[in-house]
Amino acid sequence: MESTYDPQRVEGRWYERWEQSGVFRPEHNPDGPPFCIVIPPPNVTGSLHLGHALNMTIQDTLIRRRRMQGYAALWVPGTDHAGIATQNVVERELAAEGLTRFDLGRDRFIEQVWDWKRRYGGRITEQIRRLGFSTDWSRERFTMDDGLSRAVRTVFVHLYEEGLIYRGNRIINWCPRCHTALSDIEVEYEDVAGEMVHIRYPFTDGDGGIVVATTRAETMLGDTAVAVHPDDERYRGLVGRTVRLPLVGREIPIVADEAVDPEFGSGAVKVTPAHDPTDFEIAERHGLPAVIIFDDSAVVTDAGGRFSGLDRYAAREAVKGALGEAMLGVEAHEHSVGHCYRCGTAIEPLLSEQWFVKVRPLVEPAIDAVRSGEVRFIPERWENSYFHWMENLRDWTISRQIWWGHRIPAWYCDACGDTIVAMEDPEACSCGATGLRQDPDVLDTWFSSALWPFSTLGWPDRTDDLDRYYPNSVMVTGFDIIYFWVARMIKMGIHFLGEPPYPDVVIHGLIRTADGRKMSKSLGNAVDPLDLAEEYGADALRLALIQAAAPGQDIPLQVEWVDAARRFGNKLWNAVRFALPHLEGIPAEGGYPEDPGPEERWILSRLHEVVTRVDDLLEEYRFSDAYGQLYAFAWSEVFDWFLELAKAPLRSDDRGSVAATLGVVLRDLLKLFHPVIPFLTEELWSHLGGEGLLAGSTWPQPPASEAPSGFATFQEVVTGLRRFRAEHGLAPRHPLDVIVVDPEGVHDEWWPIQVEALASVRPVWQAGLPERAGRTRLVAGPLQVFISLEGIVDLDAERQRLAKAIAEASALLERSSAKLGNPNFVDRAPSDVVQRERDKAAEAESRLGTLRAQLAELG
Ligand SMILES: [Zn+2]
Ligand SMILES: [Zn+2]
Repeated sequence: MESTYDPQRVEGRWYERWEQSGVFRPEHNPDGPPFCIVIPPPNVTGSLHLGHALNMTIQDTLIRRRRMQGYAALWVPGTDHAGIATQNVVERELAAEGLTRFDLGRDRFIEQVWDWKRRYGGRITEQIRRLGFSTDWSRERFTMDDGLSRAVRTVFVHLYEEGLIYRGNRIINWCPRCHTALSDIEVEYEDVAGEMVHIRYPFTDGDGGIVVATTRAETMLGDTAVAVHPDDERYRGLVGRTVRLPLVGREIPIVADEAVDPEFGSGAVKVTPAHDPTDFEIAERHGLPAVIIFDDSAVVTDAGGRFSGLDRYAAREAVKGALGEAMLGVEAHEHSVGHCYRCGTAIEPLLSEQWFVKVRPLVEPAIDAVRSGEVRFIPERWENSYFHWMENLRDWTISRQIWWGHRIPAWYCDACGDTIVAMEDPEACSCGATGLRQDPDVLDTWFSSALWPFSTLGWPDRTDDLDRYYPNSVMVTGFDIIYFWVARMIKMGIHFLGEPPYPDVVIHGLIRTADGRKMSKSLGNAVDPLDLAEEYGADALRLALIQAAAPGQDIPLQVEWVDAARRFGNKLWNAVRFALPHLEGIPAEGGYPEDPGPEERWILSRLHEVVTRVDDLLEEYRFSDAYGQLYAFAWSEVFDWFLELAKAPLRSDDRGSVAATLGVVLRDLLKLFHPVIPFLTEELWSHLGGEGLLAGSTWPQPPASEAPSGFATFQEVVTGLRRFRAEHGLAPRHPLDVIVVDPEGVHDEWWPIQVEALASVRPVWQAGLPERAGRTRLVAGPLQVFISLEGIVDLDAERQRLAKAIAEASALLERSSAKLGNPNFVDRAPSDVVQRERDKAAEAESRLGTLRAQLAELG
């Protein structure tokens, strides 16, 4: 075994071995109960960021543990074709050569994208391997592979035949830069400083007019009505009359509609059906025409008369300038404007012909599934957001005006006007006409990812995998894609397979910078997980992440955490190195000892308690708590105590049992940590002589064991003696004259041996109190430990030292109490700062008590 732990060397050794052994395949446990997670597929264009690393560390922890528990555990990997993102990447490559996708034409462009995918699509999967995630690569999928494309087509055709997919003219969110429709969820709203323009529209049948208010003056070019609320007294007499649209001259009616907010502006609103979703609905109710005044780039069309050819913002100024006296005033007005989530351009609501999913009939069962508890969110508070979202859902625009993606399987017959939607590409129309035109659009990328929990398992075929692994066992994902993804998976899963895709949805937070800010590439403050893995090891990164992973909580990641995790790895490495020579001749699979000694009974009882607790926590997805406990157990009980306690028995003739216990405890520790730090534990397992691969071994189930009585008291005696030496600046082996008074006979025959081994002291054990002069006293449970101060401290100096320490502690306590007594501090400071102050005060108080007692002892 190498003398030092080098993460890079260790981590290079194992992934291929695991993969080749077949241990990542569920067939590793052919008869086990099924357990399945499908990975949230990262974009094929992407590279792994810390969010992925957290998401996958959680899944790997679940999967590796279940595998060790004997489940047929399947973790399906794959990537998403990421329509707009991938198309943009390839278009940028073309632009560097001075080309556009139109120069290539559709077929050659798509070939080019596939070529890009062949060249770079493996990058992210390589990174997944580098971080040690145990996905079953023999089942890797891609949202555009043949099987998944067939699933997409099947769903489209079925929903179309059921009337749940339709093509219609609707107001959609149009990005004038990306030239595509976006779903509601892809629009990001932000408040912008705008203006409110008041315009008077004159009556056609007499003097006067009606004043409307708008934030977008240029849209008046497309107005086809003015609307008021039916209960608005101010306007009741005007409904039914008509006004003349300034600049355009069109005669338009005044209508009454419930959708008008009488509080907004003048209470009378202009109606622009082609460029506003509410206005579109008003127009539908009143049979008003829609006039499209913007083209694909938000430039005014011919319908805008003399303003045609102007960009929407230029048109706004031009219209305001031309209105003259009809414009009554302009005031500043802050309002919310939607922007494209990909490029940040302001969205133009545009009337256009698109494909939609009618969501209402799909929503109800998906809400019921969560209400009934069939699907639960962890933490539960996300359920409310889910309900709110689902209840207000509008039809989902699924067509995208790009080339890379699943092409919409609809063909149009110009001869008879029919639309054909079919599983097989049609050659001719039922009217006999050939030369059908396929719809040029592709489907929203999320349309295919919504099918991921079952399309990856072979659906629409009834495969064995589908039978066995649907529903999946759990979905692990960030809250930012609950609506994009989880909600749609639940709807599609229930609709097509009759039951939700999984019972549990574990929501994790975002990784933030150490000071709590959002990490982003554009801010340049994003930490690359691969860089961390390079410097500290993938294991250290994973351990740091899981120790911070409480469901729903954001994680302000500190690099020091990763470094601390690496040091833990070192400690584990050294523990195994220490144990190895003692384990020679001890069978590795010998199991738990039959007749353990007292030290062994203690560590075995702790092992049993910790494993039981950790199992409970992991079943509740409390990763941070579970691994926090294991970490503390390993560090302070196994490394700090048990390895020391084992030394004396290991030197004795009767060393067999303690050596076996040392072996079994370390091997169990490797097993417990394996799901999180797989590389290091696998390496150490190979040295400890565990059979086969640790990745394929079993999860520990240590039997209950009873700790020897008074063990905590024994620990207090040892700690007290060590602390005494430290406080007096004595070397760890500096001889001490010690009397331990044990009136109840608590100590056992092994105590003197271990007190000598651990504290380098051979006390006199007695039942009665000794002569007190010149001795200090420590209390440990029912025991009292008297340590002679002779030759160690000058009693006067010691009294002075104690008095000084008491004064310091009192001052500290006073300062803290004053701060805590100040309501300004308690109410306004961050809660963790207040808590720190409280801890400080409590510590000072307890220290003060100890010091005063010590001073009293000296008389
Ligand atoms: Zn855009
Ligand atoms: Zn036809």
